[in-house]
Amino acid sequence: MKIAFIGLGNMGGGMAANLVKAGHDVRAFDLSEEAQATAKSNGCETFTDAAVAVEDVEAVVTMLPNGQIVKSVYEGSVIGKAPAGAVLLDCSTIDVATAKEVIAAAESAGHDMVDAPVSGGIAAANGGTLTFMVGGTQKAFARAEDILKGMGKAVIHAGDAGAGQTAKICNNMLLAITMIGTSEAMTMAEKLGLDPQKFYEISSQSSGYNWSLNAYTPMPGVGVESPADKDYQGGFATALMLKDLRLAMAAAEESGAPVPLGSRAAALYEDFAGKGNGALDFSAIIKTY
Ligand code: NAD
Repeated sequence: MKIAFIGLGNMGGGMAANLVKAGHDVRAFDLSEEAQATAKSNGCETFTDAAVAVEDVEAVVTMLPNGQIVKSVYEGSVIGKAPAGAVLLDCSTIDVATAKEVIAAAESAGHDMVDAPVSGGIAAANGGTLTFMVGGTQKAFARAEDILKGMGKAVIHAGDAGAGQTAKICNNMLLAITMIGTSEAMTMAEKLGLDPQKFYEISSQSSGYNWSLNAYTPMPGVGVESPADKDYQGGFATALMLKDLRLAMAAAEESGAPVPLGSRAAALYEDFAGKGNGALDFSAIIKTY
């Protein structure tokens, strides 16, 4: 299939390379020359103009930093430039309102379009093991599914337009809350004189069981091996968690959903990132206790 790929950064670079490996003819565009050069060495054909890259394609995939950029790329270079029959897939993490707005504009120009944000970081993007949560019509999902399977291990239809972004931010808000709760409980257990490893052994098999404790233990040398054991390098950066929490807070405000714990978690991550910790894995929040 002839596919245009726009946004060849940390995530998009590996994803575009996996589409090439899956046998697609990938026409790549990024503002960064370095990203373009890497894409070329991975077998993509590169373009200096996104609107030219999308001419004549059957699908367009985007992996861009934020909603404002996604909207401007679709309005300026994709909608009305790609053939009306092309299916459009935005894999960026953006706000629900912009996702719905861009999909509506694409649909009125005759396109099928999905929002398809991912779970999994750079290693999963490179390894083709991302999970995609997809919003859009049944028809758009059916058209997008095979393309996404070339870049991931799981492709789930979440619901209508925007449902992929909704699933992503609600999941990550829950993750932030459980990470903070786990950090709080582990530190308190230690301050009360309980060996943190004993606490892990007990709570990970009791009603305190949760992913942050069981699969991503935030305390070095305790529980499973995790970024905590590598001085919080790698993993899921605090700055990206904060980005998702800000999107979650915007969505909560717009929908009127009460999020007392989500907003507290967002404030704690805002403070932690503001103190120069944005590049550390998000489990490093335990250091604040
Ligand atoms: P990145 O900054 O590494 O890559 C973004 C790329 O988009 C850059 O190469 C940049 O040059 C390019 N770009 C910016 N504006 C452009 C434009 N107008 N036209 C063409 N290219 C443009 O970011 P990333 O880490 O690859 O993240 C991309 C998206 O994936 C974000 O929405 C992020 O929230 C989401 N995400 C990232 C991770 C992660 O671990 N990095 C995990 C899950 C989801």
